[in-house]
Amino acid sequence: MNLHEYQAKSLFRAYRIPVPTGQVIRHQSELADALNATGTDQWVIKAQIHAGARGKAGGVKLVKSASEAETLARALLGTELATPQTAGKALPVKALLVEETLAIEEELYLSLLIDRASRRHTFIVSAAGGMDIEAVAAETPERIHRVTVNPAVGLMPYQCREVGFALNLTGQAFKQLGQIMQAAYRLALDKDVSLLEINPLIKTADNALVALDAKVSLDPNALYRQKELAEMRDPSQEDEREARAADHQLNYIALDGNIGCMVNGAGLAMATMDLIQLHGGEPANFLDVGGGATADRVAEAFKLILSSDQVESILVNIFGGIVRCDLIADGIIQAVKEVGLTLPVVVRLEGTNAAQGRARLAESELQIVTAETLSEAAEQAVKLAGEAR
Ligand code: GDP
Ligand code: MN
Repeated sequence: MNLHEYQAKSLFRAYRIPVPTGQVIRHQSELADALNATGTDQWVIKAQIHAGARGKAGGVKLVKSASEAETLARALLGTELATPQTAGKALPVKALLVEETLAIEEELYLSLLIDRASRRHTFIVSAAGGMDIEAVAAETPERIHRVTVNPAVGLMPYQCREVGFALNLTGQAFKQLGQIMQAAYRLALDKDVSLLEINPLIKTADNALVALDAKVSLDPNALYRQKELAEMRDPSQEDEREARAADHQLNYIALDGNIGCMVNGAGLAMATMDLIQLHGGEPANFLDVGGGATADRVAEAFKLILSSDQVESILVNIFGGIVRCDLIADGIIQAVKEVGLTLPVVVRLEGTNAAQGRARLAESELQIVTAETLSEAAEQAVKLAGEAR
C-alpha cells in the first residue's frame, strides 16, 4: 500500500527527518491559508498522486506569487495527472501539497528497502539524486552506494559515515545524514515499511539536509497491525479492478497480454502464466481465486477478467483440493450466462470431483473447450486467442 507524499512527510516529521514546511489542501478555498502558513513569498505546489516523476509532467511547480498559485491550484485540483510512472493511465489529483521553496545546492538520493536476495533492509544512496536516478543506475552504477543492515546489531554508525564520505558531505550535513538514516531505519521497522524513498534529499546553501520528496510503501500483509496507517489508504489512486478484486478476496493483477487466466493458488497461477508464455502467448492478468473458491467468487473473477478489453481467450486452470471442481464448473456456467460471454474459454479441471465438473460443462452447451493437461490447456488458449483476432 502506497502513501501520499504529504502522509509520508508527516511520518518523517514524527521521526525527525527534516522536511519543508507545508500544508495540504483539498479545496481552492484552503489555498490562502496554506500560502500564509509557510511564511514565505515563494512556494512549490505539488499534486498528490501515487506516482513519481510528477515534476516531468507538470505536477510539481514553483510559484512566485499568490495569484500564480491560485491559477496553478485551479488548473491541478480536480483534474487527472499522467506521469512517466503511471503506465499510460492518469490518476485523480484530489489534494495539493503547498510548501515553502528551498534553495537547492545539491540533490541526493536515499532509499531504504528490503533486499529480497539478502533478506535484509538495504539503503541505496547516491550523490546523483533528482529526477533521473533510473538513468544514473543504468549508466553510472558506480555512483550508487548500498548499505545492508544486519538486523542483529542494527544500522551501525560506521555504515552511515561511509555513506557520508561517499557523498562528500561535511559538517552539519554529514552528521544529519547519520540521523536521517537511523530515523529511516527505525521508521521502517516500526511501521512495516517495504520502501522508503527520498528523491531528492537536498543539501541547502547552509549545509542542511532536507527531504524534499517522500515516498513510503507499506507491507500490505502487516496492515492488520498498522491500523492508523491502513486508514490512510486512498482507493482513488489504485487500479479500480485490483481494488474490486480485493473486496472479493481475489488476488488480481492486471497485465498487458491477451489471455485471461483464472487459477486457484498463486503457485499454480505462476506456472500457468509460464506455460502460456512457453506456447507463445501473453497473460492478460494474474488471478488467484484462492483455495475456498465459491461459485459466486468464480463469477466475480470472470467479470474481472472480462473488464480488460485486450482479452481474446480465457484459460481456467483449477486444481480441486479443498475446492470442488463441480462447484467451480457451476460458477463458470453462471458467469458465462451472466456476462454473455463471446470469447473462447478453455477449462482444465483436476482433482476433487473433476469428472463431475467436466460433465457439468459438457451438459451446459456453452462453447467451452475442456483440456486434460495444463500444457494442452495453455496451448489451446493461445491458439484460440490467435483465431479470435
Ligand atoms: P517527483 O517528480 O514526483 O519525484 O517530485 P519531486 O518532489 O521530487 O519534485 C521534482 C523536482 O522539483 C525536484 O527534483 C526539484 O528539482 C524540484 N523542486 C521541488 N521542490 C523544490 C523547491 O522547494 N525548490 C526548488 N528549487 N526546486 C524544487
Ligand atoms: Mn521525487
